[in-house]
Amino acid sequence: CGVFGIWGHEKAAELTYYGLHSMQHRGQEGAGVVVSDGEELKAHKGLGLVNDVFKHADFNKLSGRVAVGHVRYSTQGGKVLENVQPLLFRSQAGSLALAHNGNLMNAHKLRGELEGQGSILQTSSDTEVLAHLIKRSGMETNEESIADALNQVVGAYAYLILKENKMFAALDPTGIRPLSIGRLGDAYVVASETCAFDQIGATFVREVLPGELVTISDEGIKSTRFAMREQRKMCAMEYVYLSRPDSDVNQVNVHASRKRMGIELAKESPAPEADIVVGVPDSSISAAIGYAEMSGLPYEMGIIKNRYVGRTFIQPSQELREQGVKMKLAPVRGIVEGKRVVMIDDSIVRGTTSRRIVQMLKEAGAKEVHVRIASPSIQNPCYYGIDMSTRDELIAANNSPEEICDIIGADSIAYLTEKGLERAIIMEKTIHQGICTACMTGKYPVKEDGQTEIMYTK
Ligand code: 5GP
Ligand code: SF4
Ligand code: MG
Repeated sequence: CGVFGIWGHEKAAELTYYGLHSMQHRGQEGAGVVVSDGEELKAHKGLGLVNDVFKHADFNKLSGRVAVGHVRYSTQGGKVLENVQPLLFRSQAGSLALAHNGNLMNAHKLRGELEGQGSILQTSSDTEVLAHLIKRSGMETNEESIADALNQVVGAYAYLILKENKMFAALDPTGIRPLSIGRLGDAYVVASETCAFDQIGATFVREVLPGELVTISDEGIKSTRFAMREQRKMCAMEYVYLSRPDSDVNQVNVHASRKRMGIELAKESPAPEADIVVGVPDSSISAAIGYAEMSGLPYEMGIIKNRYVGRTFIQPSQELREQGVKMKLAPVRGIVEGKRVVMIDDSIVRGTTSRRIVQMLKEAGAKEVHVRIASPSIQNPCYYGIDMSTRDELIAANNSPEEICDIIGADSIAYLTEKGLERAIIMEKTIHQGICTACMTGKYPVKEDGQTEIMYTK
């Protein structure tokens, strides 16, 4: 998912629409905005793409100098309108809106407790749990009640919380999900990805820190801490696949990190004898450029993408995913025919993409296809908000690399190592930088009982 917030701008709702549009890749199931005019919160949301949802928005009715927005893809909770965020809770004592990127590992347990105490939950999304924890026993929404609520949830989260006259931004103590602060003139902006800042002409100021609660109001910006800062464990998949190449995630540019993944991969696993390097558009092109540069082979456009098809991974069923890959990617026969091809993909999850593409390239006349994957193999589920949650679906959890090579019909296969991935992402200049690689290495930085594992990557 992606979150966006703006404080102190006449066109808050419209800028939220632009910001969300630039983060469309983070979720295509639904989108929404909640605006505050200082007295009242108003929502506009819907299922589908940002453009579809906002096509029907009357921005005159969404007046107010403050807004939070959200693009959604579901990890918990179904694909229904009431789960589209920001969630808005009205009450006489004061309304509350929430936008969440991440996943709460103990949501089910907390929900049971809340219901046991008489709370009635409206949605099946884990986000609502936090709202109830904040509002419990009629507490006012302030730093104290939010900190108290955050200390009960376990998992990965970047939250934007809005009430009539204040906005709060919070990041989990290990900083697994991205969240940055920017400025646009006098206005403050908060977003999952910095590409949203560029989109609206805002400038990056700083990251929200792990365990930090930021309060934004007409008095300015204030920082408090609800948890001790731990070494940051930014999701490695943000760099590998999820984020846009023009974004800086924890101050490291995504395209540049992917290119370094390709360079490291070429050093670790050069292809035997090959003619061209081809990347799977769009997310693997940066890594393919790096691989080509390092190996001295020409980078070629051997696969093209139909840009009118959405992200296949985010399709909820395997059938839709298979059809999606077929509609989305096509080989360039004139380029690959008779060639020994090194095919770079950023990752293999279920194996759908790689299998289809190897087959396509061979049908188009490629002599050999050597698959090189610019991340380690994914063998474990993610509990922190990325949708690949069952082990059964993960091809690498159930098959060796040799078996995968056979299944996808490649001539050889190799993955980037954990060390190679770290070299590509972790930069000297970034303080407290570390990465989560749990889906690849099984080293989970946060456990469900709330214990964090202290591991120092550097
Ligand atoms: P597969 O086809 O093997 O199931 O998935 C791999 C493809 O999905 C890759 O081409 C990659 O670009 C994309 N992908 C990999 N990891 C993720 C992820 O964590 N989230 C999403 N949304 N897509 C991913
Ligand atoms: Fe990201 Fe994988 Fe960690 Fe999930 S388990 S947060 S996808 S690195
Ligand atoms: Mg891909």
